[in-house]
Amino acid sequence: MENAQELLDNVRLAQQCINELELEKEAGRDELDKEVDKVSREYRDRIWGLEQEKRKAISQLEGKIDKYVAGMDTKLETHYSTIKHAQRVLAFLSLPTQYDLWLPDKLRVNNWAFQYQEDLGYFLDDELLKIRLYIIGNRKPKNRYSLVAIGRTVFSRELLSVPYSYGTDIMDSDFQLISNIRDGSSAEELIKYLSKSRASLLKPTIIEYVLVKHEYNDVITNYNIKDLAPLIVWFCPSCNNFYTVWEQPYRAGVEAPNCGNCRVEMVHREDLK
Ligand SMILES: [Zn+2]
Repeated sequence: MENAQELLDNVRLAQQCINELELEKEAGRDELDKEVDKVSREYRDRIWGLEQEKRKAISQLEGKIDKYVAGMDTKLETHYSTIKHAQRVLAFLSLPTQYDLWLPDKLRVNNWAFQYQEDLGYFLDDELLKIRLYIIGNRKPKNRYSLVAIGRTVFSRELLSVPYSYGTDIMDSDFQLISNIRDGSSAEELIKYLSKSRASLLKPTIIEYVLVKHEYNDVITNYNIKDLAPLIVWFCPSCNNFYTVWEQPYRAGVEAPNCGNCRVEMVHREDLK
């Protein structure tokens, strides 16, 4: 065993070595860390560069795709418009030939707070669209009189879009057209308004109606259902309704659907004689 002096010498020496080596270790480690930083920076730059390249390449391809799709859509559009046209012709031909567009002289109004009603008569009394005007009491605290229009048309919503205001107090829901035209503080005020603005009242609807009616008359003079039978799958034996090759009534592949108008079971084209 070493003596005490030797032990002390050994300890001193060891401590000195430790101090030097620890310093060296720290410096060496710093060096290596710097290398790691350098490598990681280099890769980061390369990755960033590659990402840029990738983004550019993809965005070029995407531009190509957009162009291609737009080109194909243009080609398709002409053919789709032929189909849409045929569908519209069929929609006109499926309209009922017997109909009643009569409008009541009194509305059922769900308003017990302030009951007032005045029938202003037909605003439009045409064979395929009828519109009637009324003044009714509303539930508002001010301007308690409302000038309203209701209407019925033979045209479905896809053929003629007519205004439909939700949230009026009118209870009958089978009018296709409901329009809350204006509120006023008295019936006289609304009548005055009406006499001034009659020409512009519901103008977009009237303009569209005239066009659609013209189109309808063209269709029924030029086509009939028999000639277009290959485009029809299900016929209603009771009313004028039918389902076309583009329509998929519920469970129609499995069983004959019921007519959406009169609920009668429909007949398949092949069973029709
Ligand atoms: Zn039917």
